[in-house]
Amino acid sequence: MNEAKEIMELRAMPKVELHIHIEGAVSPETYYALAEKNNTKLPCNNLKEWKDFFKFENFAHFIDVYMLAVSTIKEPEDFSFIIENFYKYQKSQNIIYSEAYLSASLIVGKFDNTEILDAIEKGMKEGERKYNVKVNIIPDIARNIPETKDKVLDLVIQGHSRGLFIGLGLGGLEEGFPASMFEETYNKATSTGMKVVAHAGEGVGPESIWQSIRLLKAQRIGHGIRSVDDPELLEYLKKTQLPIEVSPTSNYRLGLVADTDKHPIRKMVDSGVLCTLNSDDPAMFSTSLSDEYELLYKQGFSKKELYQLNINAINSAFISDEEKDELQDKIDLLKYF
Ligand SMILES: [Zn+2]
Repeated sequence: MNEAKEIMELRAMPKVELHIHIEGAVSPETYYALAEKNNTKLPCNNLKEWKDFFKFENFAHFIDVYMLAVSTIKEPEDFSFIIENFYKYQKSQNIIYSEAYLSASLIVGKFDNTEILDAIEKGMKEGERKYNVKVNIIPDIARNIPETKDKVLDLVIQGHSRGLFIGLGLGGLEEGFPASMFEETYNKATSTGMKVVAHAGEGVGPESIWQSIRLLKAQRIGHGIRSVDDPELLEYLKKTQLPIEVSPTSNYRLGLVADTDKHPIRKMVDSGVLCTLNSDDPAMFSTSLSDEYELLYKQGFSKKELYQLNINAINSAFISDEEKDELQDKIDLLKYF
């Protein structure tokens, strides 16, 4: 089979995604519309300039874009709008099930919890009704805003009891903000039966992954690419099959992997680590989940290996066995083997 046809098949495959940030998937057009509605000042005169500004340049610029984009969200109802838009985007990408992060550290303190949860619930209901894809939300604490951790936990517990959230995440800057700072918060979250995950081993080495496993009892690791620096950790990940959410384009754009290097997911998969493939912040990194599959295909992954990454995502999702079976049926993966 020729390469172009295989890529087309990979792109057409219905997919499951476990590591995507809602705020990083919202289009520049959507943020622009919110800025106009809410009179938010953006450093540009029109949509074209904003779209140019939105393009990824470097890490500092990425943070500027992220913070400015999020600053356009002024009212609880704006969350209904961006969440509904998120469903629309996932549908357009043929992603039938997602577990999506929401940057809760930037929300808490700004709004009343009940108002926010009502708005999120409205966005989720409308999104599911209109686009017929399933999304579960995992709010996360930004490591570099640790003072928000208790408030985020309160929001997550309330949302979890209303069936809106399935777990707690940890994102933001790894350097200088170790997992140990969040151990107590994570203990409380797991005691309520919630799932817990953490970004780790992205900007900091294997010790950050070890901490997330040992102290936070993380049930999945976001990124985790620095595991390749520690043979003992690779062995542990192989043995336990703790899922890793890998996002290659994000790592290249942020300069964590050199453009000329093959992505470390090759070594992780070869070491027997359970990897899933994800787009992280697709709008901000100018990527998509299909682009990620194509990128690895071009780096030598076989079609079969790439299908396996999709199956891994189903198996690593925080859903029941019945829901996993339903996804398998929808994807009809057997036809790909
Ligand atoms: Zn992420």
